[in-house]
Formats: sequence, C-alpha cells, structure tokens
Amino acid sequence: MPPKKACKNAFYYYMIEFRDKRPGQFNNLQEVAQAAGEFWQRMNANERKPYETRAKGTKNVQKVAKYTSTGENIELVQKQQMEMVMKEQHMKDYIIEKIHLSVESGMLPDEPFYVIHINYFCYCNANKRYYPAEIGIAKFNLRTGIIQDNLFNMICKPGSLPLGYLSLAKQISEDSHQIPPPMSSETDYNLDEVAYLLWKFISKTSGNSNYLPPVYAAKKNQAVVENVLSNFSANFGYEELKTYSLEYLFFELRNNCREEKVWVAPTLGELELEKDKYEGCSDISCPYHIYSDVPNHCSQSHVIRTVYTICDNCCADVGIELIPGQHVPKKANTNIPRPHSRTTSCSSVSQTNVGRPVYDHGYLSRAESDYSAVSETSTVVDAVDFAAVGGFDSEFSQADTEEWFPALPESKGLSAKQPLRRPTTQSAVVSRNVGKGRGKGIAANFLGN
Ligand SMILES: [Zn+2]
Repeated sequence: MPPKKACKNAFYYYMIEFRDKRPGQFNNLQEVAQAAGEFWQRMNANERKPYETRAKGTKNVQKVAKYTSTGENIELVQKQQMEMVMKEQHMKDYIIEKIHLSVESGMLPDEPFYVIHINYFCYCNANKRYYPAEIGIAKFNLRTGIIQDNLFNMICKPGSLPLGYLSLAKQISEDSHQIPPPMSSETDYNLDEVAYLLWKFISKTSGNSNYLPPVYAAKKNQAVVENVLSNFSANFGYEELKTYSLEYLFFELRNNCREEKVWVAPTLGELELEKDKYEGCSDISCPYHIYSDVPNHCSQSHVIRTVYTICDNCCADVGIELIPGQHVPKKANTNIPRPHSRTTSCSSVSQTNVGRPVYDHGYLSRAESDYSAVSETSTVVDAVDFAAVGGFDSEFSQADTEEWFPALPESKGLSAKQPLRRPTTQSAVVSRNVGKGRGKGIAANFLGN
C-alpha cells in the first residue's frame, strides 16, 4: 500500500482534473472530493499512475522551489522583506523622534522638510532603472511655507533610452508630463549636472554637508524617487539620500500640531494629499510647464501643492498665519473664519461660512474646495501669477521666468502641442542658472535646437 500522503496528493491532482472537466457542477472542493472519490476508488494502479507521477514530480519541484522560486532564493526574498519592514520602522522612528524633539523644544514651526517629486520617461526591467524626466524639490517649514530660494527644479536628460523603450516613453510623456523623450545619448544627457546641483541644493539649504536630511515622496512616486536617487548616488558618488514617506510625515505633523490626536491613521493624511485641492493652480509650474496644457503634471507644481496642503492643514494649529504665495496660493483668501474644533476627521464637512476659499484647513469636501472650480469663476481667488510675483527664479530653478517669457515667441497663441517647443534662448538662460556654464541647456537639445 502506498504511503497515505503520496496517495492523497495523487488524488488531489485527479480531483482538480475531475472538477475542470465539469465546470459549474460543484459549489466547493468538498463536493468535488466526494464525487471524484467514488471514481478514484474504482481506478486501478495503472489508471492512478499519471496522477501519482505528477504528485511526485510536483513534490520534487516544490522542494527545489524552496530555494529557486522564479529564480530567486526564498531565504533571500524573506531577508529582503524583513529589511523592508525594518527600514519602514526606522523611517517611522526617525519621523516620530524628529517631530517629538521639535515639539519639545518649541521649534516645530521652524523644522525644515524636503518634499520631492520625479517625473519619468520609462522603467526598464532589464536594468531595473527609472529614466527621470524632471525633478522638483521643495524645502519648507510651517513658519515660512515655501520660498523661492528653497526650491529646486530641473528637466532631466537621461541620454538614449534602452532599445525598444522609446514608444513607451513617448506614451508616458503624452499621458503625463509631456516632456519629449531623449533621442541622443550625447546631446540629451545632463544627469551628472542634475545630480551635482541636486546634492548641492540639499547640502546648501540644509546647512550641513556632512549629514543630508531625508527627502519625502508620495507613496505613488516613492519607487521612482528611491530608484533615481540611488542611481545618482551610485553613478556619481554622492552620499545616499534617504527617501521617506510623505504621507507618514504629514500624519505625524498634523497630529503634533495639536495636543490631541487629530488623525487616527496615516491613511487620512494620504487621503488629504490625494484630494490635491490645488491641482488647478497652474502657475506654480516650472517655466517648461507653465504654458503647457499639463501644468499640474510639473514636478515643481507637485511639490508646491504638497507644501500648500500641509501648511493649510497644520499652520493654524501652531498659531501661524497663512501667507499667500508661501503657505497657500498667492491670491488665496486667508480671512475665512476657522471652526473652533478640529477634532473631526479631515473629510468632515459642516461649513456654512464658505465663501470661495482656496484653502479650507481640511474641512471642506473636495468639490467645495476644488481650486480649479473656484479659480475659474471666483473674484476672491484667481490663479497665482507666479511670474508676476517674482516666480521661482532661485539659483536652483532651471530658468529665470522673467528672462524666459520674452523669449517665447509663441506665448500668445499656444496650442495644446506648442508648449513643447522651446525657445532657442532657453539654452543660454539655463546654462547661466544651471551652474556657471557647466550645462548645455536643459531642454533645447530635445528639440534639435
Ligand atoms: Zn515642470
């Protein structure tokens, strides 16, 4: 008599085959087992043999698979999973401690944080690499929000994409940021400059070149950011930049701005960020995107909107008056009365005094506070004319808006596709901004100049 376990395994395969030959006939495996069992009992050794062979074979495969599932060592995978869990815990501990110490010392409003967003052309499976298209970083704190000197934004030229990835890159570009994919490995390459200026920006603005602070990325952008930054570190020899969870930072910040806990779970911070109520704020984009038909896909716009959302939710609770253009859009109405209690969740809606606010301290529904909806009709809130208020022409912005505007001959009649055409003077402007003539210009080469 064969061992019970081997016999059972063989029966399992027979039972599965039995079920698959009779689709819809059984409600569960128990019913299949009962029906198949009657046939199985009547089968002789020869008839059972194929199933026993299969069971035996599978058993061997399973034994091997313990070590080589999809070509990977299971122990290694488990180790990596454990490392991820520990990394996440370390990240949480860091954020909790950082904010706790700031609260204890009364310095929370001045504690700086770096928010990052990266647009990309494609992800190549073969070399496990994201090819960046644009990087935006904003250093902010609750007291001052975001100011122009604390903003970094560059269009990236990663050189030729891997063979076969151009059409994918074109598709991604078309569906999102609309930055044309690079065509040449020589003229469409500036990642060394981007990395140099990025690390320089963080070293300089953090005031400590020995220890670089983490950067915070939204969940859906985190893999891209981690990948691009670690490639920069590896390829150009810069110190590692840690990428932490923006949602978790927001959650802890929000809860520590008041004595009582406001949000019970990080998901609430995530939802608040996902509302993206400043999405319609089109003029906080970089010079490349400001006249495009996708200004909201700009990395610079992403990070500024994030700062606005965080400030909108947190500042009032630490007694900071919102400054238009720094904490909220330039023309936001900041004189709207605040409710007395903020103990309800961010999505609670019970406002009767809502004029046409751009910001709402997290109390209004998405529909009521939708920036784009408001900005189209409101006289209280108009789109922020960033160029008019000085724009972001810091050392780390890729182009000076004031110089860039006059050089754009088509600016009066831009069609949907026209924004992709860059003025030839862009190259010169960018070179000046991008590092004392180190660069060849950011976007000019994409267009054959
Ligand atoms: Zn942009």
